[in-house]
Amino acid sequence: MEHRPTIIAGNWKMYKTIADALAWVKAFQQEPPGKTGVEVAIFAPFTALHAIAAEVQGGPLILGAQDIYPGTFGAFTGEVSGPMLRDAGAQWVLIGHSERRQFFHESHDLLAAKLRSAMEWGLRPVYCVGETLAERDSGSHFQVVASQLNMVLSGLDADQASRIVIAYEPVWAIGTGKTASAEEAEEMHRFIRHEMQSLWGPVSRSIPILYGGSVKPANAAELFRCDNIDGALVGGASLDPQDFKAILASA
Ligand code: PEP
Repeated sequence: MEHRPTIIAGNWKMYKTIADALAWVKAFQQEPPGKTGVEVAIFAPFTALHAIAAEVQGGPLILGAQDIYPGTFGAFTGEVSGPMLRDAGAQWVLIGHSERRQFFHESHDLLAAKLRSAMEWGLRPVYCVGETLAERDSGSHFQVVASQLNMVLSGLDADQASRIVIAYEPVWAIGTGKTASAEEAEEMHRFIRHEMQSLWGPVSRSIPILYGGSVKPANAAELFRCDNIDGALVGGASLDPQDFKAILASA
């Protein structure tokens, strides 16, 4: 079987001041989980990136941003570009989180531009896909996820694709306390790998696919046992360093 790293990533969303973020990093680093072969990333608010970067420099904790705007510099009030993220110390970036799709109406075209920009600036993209409850109930979930993948990723060549991470996050499981069953998640992860195989061939076997949606210490181990689940993108349970470490311990 191909080697894929296990990745446990925390998405802090619009939480944590700089002081809160630094306290989290200190608590995490005081007693690092000491897992080998597991990559750990934190997607922090823009405002805390620079301070965290100084704190984690040289260590294993990977720092990510929660969004990127395509381009370099320009008259785009309120937006933050790839070179600015790099300057602040970010290494990875979330693209297409369902909250961005839902509340900020991000289109496939915009997401594709964000992805190209992340690639250009050497930021590793974690591209999020996932269906709503209505889409699952109507049986269109595979079609929805296929279109989220194909409409945004089809411009990448196999070499670029080898640098991305996918996160499958069913919208109905995000922040709701409802998790997809391990079978439901694995079924979709297998489907995603199959779609990627059609786009890029064998390289798709080395692309990590994370599961996200109410992952917590109590349900993580069961999800991580699945063949195509290569880790987790954790929202709520990443805010507390102890919960996050407990999830890490089951990876
Ligand atoms: C997320 O924000 O990506 C997420 C999965 O949130 P939660 O774990 O809180 O459902």
